[in-house]
Amino acid sequence: MYNLILFGPPGSGKGTQAALLVKQYGFLHISTGDMFRFELKNNTPLGQEARAYMDRGDLVPDEVTIAMLRKRVEENPDVTGIIFDGFPRTDPQAEALNELMVELGSQINALILLDINQEEVINRILGRGATSGRADDLKVDTIRTRYENFINYTNPVYAYYDKMGLAHKIDGMQKIVQVAMAVDNIVAPKLED
Ligand code: AMP
Repeated sequence: MYNLILFGPPGSGKGTQAALLVKQYGFLHISTGDMFRFELKNNTPLGQEARAYMDRGDLVPDEVTIAMLRKRVEENPDVTGIIFDGFPRTDPQAEALNELMVELGSQINALILLDINQEEVINRILGRGATSGRADDLKVDTIRTRYENFINYTNPVYAYYDKMGLAHKIDGMQKIVQVAMAVDNIVAPKLED
């Protein structure tokens, strides 16, 4: 099993690159943001719990997020690989993912940071807000909060994987195809192992 974490601030292109990897390699794509939006749309108890956090651009509590992620992974035992998009976003989430991988007899193979600056985050998300239908893409304050939460809580997760020699950084300001090539330069050699 090949397991990849796509990492980066909101709007850095994680979803776009995940879709390309799914097409190329057939991996399972798990986006915790997409999962929460599905729950919200269907007004489930989980959606109701997550709503206020998401509206503010804050992180949903770890216990809730980890339980949801764990269930999705456990429901898909036969996949050849998983792309984690938007998870882990805190150190406790990274610890929980490690435990889950050990339980499955598997491992995280790489984390790839798509690096973009705050100005680009705000411009891209406001641009996407016109068509994404996401309430949290429309207000500059909410977008700022999401970026600040990335810097304060999520960025440290990079160091967690860097210590294990698994972290890679790509310039996310490049064109989509160039980012895709840089991602594949990391993924493809490890698949041949
Ligand atoms: P995203 O689509 O990844 O930008 O996620 C949208 C929103 O869902 C975030 O602003 C958070 O409120 C929530 N969310 C998604 N993934 C996580 C996570 N791993 N931990 C906590 N909250 C999350």
